[in-house]
Amino acid sequence: MREEALKSLFPAMVERRRYLHRYPELSFQEQNTSAYVADVLRELGIDTVVGVGGNGVVGTIKGQLPGRTVALRADMDALPIQDEKTCEYASQVQGVMHACGHDGHTSALLAVAEYFSSRREKLQGEIRLLFQPAEEVCPGGALSMIEAGALDGVDVIYGVHLWTPIPVGTTASRPGPLMASTDEFFIELSGRGGHGGMPHAAVDSVVAGSALVLQLQSVVSRSVNPLDPAVVTIGSIHGGTAQNVIADTCRLAGTVRCFHEETRKTIRDRIEQLAQGTAQAYGAGVSIDYMTGYPSLVNHQEEFERFQNVAAKEAGLGVELSPQIMPAEDFAYYLQRVPGCFMLVGAGNPAKNAAYPHHHPKFDIDEEAMLHAASLMIAMAEAYQSDRQ
Ligand code: MN
Repeated sequence: MREEALKSLFPAMVERRRYLHRYPELSFQEQNTSAYVADVLRELGIDTVVGVGGNGVVGTIKGQLPGRTVALRADMDALPIQDEKTCEYASQVQGVMHACGHDGHTSALLAVAEYFSSRREKLQGEIRLLFQPAEEVCPGGALSMIEAGALDGVDVIYGVHLWTPIPVGTTASRPGPLMASTDEFFIELSGRGGHGGMPHAAVDSVVAGSALVLQLQSVVSRSVNPLDPAVVTIGSIHGGTAQNVIADTCRLAGTVRCFHEETRKTIRDRIEQLAQGTAQAYGAGVSIDYMTGYPSLVNHQEEFERFQNVAAKEAGLGVELSPQIMPAEDFAYYLQRVPGCFMLVGAGNPAKNAAYPHHHPKFDIDEEAMLHAASLMIAMAEAYQSDRQ
């Protein structure tokens, strides 16, 4: 019955997703998307609040039967990428594109809204629909929506990500840490400039910076448990202006990814120690700007088990155990506060040009995946409600 109902909603899902795909908006600028979502919710007679923690929209559907409060979340922002697709729904906005599938998340959650709003007499408890802005750029929209009260009274939360690395018809998730934490750091080494032919009268920041890049390679290899995946990447190093001038300053920038808070702290401490120690060894000064990003996304065991039970039986999908993956997600903040599960929904299908990785200029999804995403969110919400009666 759920499947039939969703199938009848599919043409609208495609139409809405393609509209959002044509008119993408960058993080923190989702005014039009937010207004579009609010219009659809209000047309469905759903109690809707806009401007929640920025451009966030919260819809509330109260069932006529007693029960708990289940939050379902979709992110709405796009990326600063020029769309290279040539299809009729390609982005109309220069340099901005839905290259991560958030348009599909938004459309799928609108279908979930439509499904529950027409079944209030059978609905237990409350469905809280969170349309979240700014997932792609730290500090993200999740925290500001939480601060604005979006999670108040919520018992459990579920979210999905359409995922092209796995084929359409399959879903995947994992108990415990699924996605990495992500931090950024910027280190400036200050020496004393001078003549390239008279190094003894200068302090060479480029030599100190080069030494530090190599020292930092020992953080993961020597200070982190080999069974605990982690990355320290120095993505850029800049110093100096000419071949015969000793550089006054040298700047390094890098990113850190891992899955456990203790590891995250170890890595940060080691980076700071090595920067200070190396600078001192070379007689240079140092300043470190360490920016904390999203925490690791950690699924709750019981809700992961619900996913395993429900995805195949109730939503008719193939179920896989996902490996841990290094991209970050601010859904992590919700899971730090309430139980829940984040689930990857297969959207890959080479026959429909959905074969490119996320954030690629030709990224696209198999739109059938939106049906699966909606079906999975509904099935999870219903299973939780009947379990907690
Ligand atoms: Mn994404």
